[in-house]
Amino acid sequence: MSGAEVLDTAHTEGDPEIERLIALAHTRRRIVAFTGAGISTESGIPDYRGPDGVWARQAPPTIGDFRSNPATRRDYWVRRRSTYPALLATRPNAGHAALVALERYGLLTAVVTQNIDGLHQQAGNDPTHVIELHGSAHEIRCLDCGRGWPAAAIDVRLRKGEDEPACTVCGGLLRTATVLFGESLPAGALRRAAMAAHTCDLMLVVGTSLIVNPAARLPLLAKESGAALAIINDTPTPLDPRADVVVRARAGPTLAALATALIASSGADGTAPSP
Ligand code: ZN
Repeated sequence: MSGAEVLDTAHTEGDPEIERLIALAHTRRRIVAFTGAGISTESGIPDYRGPDGVWARQAPPTIGDFRSNPATRRDYWVRRRSTYPALLATRPNAGHAALVALERYGLLTAVVTQNIDGLHQQAGNDPTHVIELHGSAHEIRCLDCGRGWPAAAIDVRLRKGEDEPACTVCGGLLRTATVLFGESLPAGALRRAAMAAHTCDLMLVVGTSLIVNPAARLPLLAKESGAALAIINDTPTPLDPRADVVVRARAGPTLAALATALIASSGADGTAPSP
């Protein structure tokens, strides 16, 4: 991916908030991005939790309801069948691309995300550096034995007419490997996220309102470990008073401007180093 593809900065030049963000990030070499729904809305994925979000109209099931209620499971698979193709068709946007550019230039060490859409990996971030706190919509997992499959493998079975596919190993209940209401977040991902926050020198919060834990805790952990904190979000967050810079703007153009400036000042010649 070339720098020119990534970085449309026409709308951000001279914006004082973005200039402050660039100044803050200028000397940092261990940036961790912490992303939420706001980075994916520019790809057309709705913010499920927002006031107009899908969840306001039809909340996802709780894990208890999913386990005990066959009708819930049937509805879940009907919905999955109708919504997953749209998710598969979405593409990363300028915000995702800017994070890829920062990673390739050695400036970004990890992406911690609340999103389940897989767009960071699709954009080109190293999958081993993407920490998915809420799981992934692109994986199906057995609730009983924990075995996982790529979503495509289960989609084949759905197309062949299975209404509610079961685990082929233990017969257990299957569902998307995403965190439902009433479930705790995956411990391994949480541990890695905490480590990333602890060892970064700038945490870049992008498109999350930081209301639900552990979202609220990670930026504070970064701060307490000596990192700077920047928040890019189009609405206020409870941690704005603790941030070094707050940019009230869309994620895509802001991250594009940031990546352009940091890559230029890192002395790079505009050609991304080999991955
Ligand atoms: Zn199983």
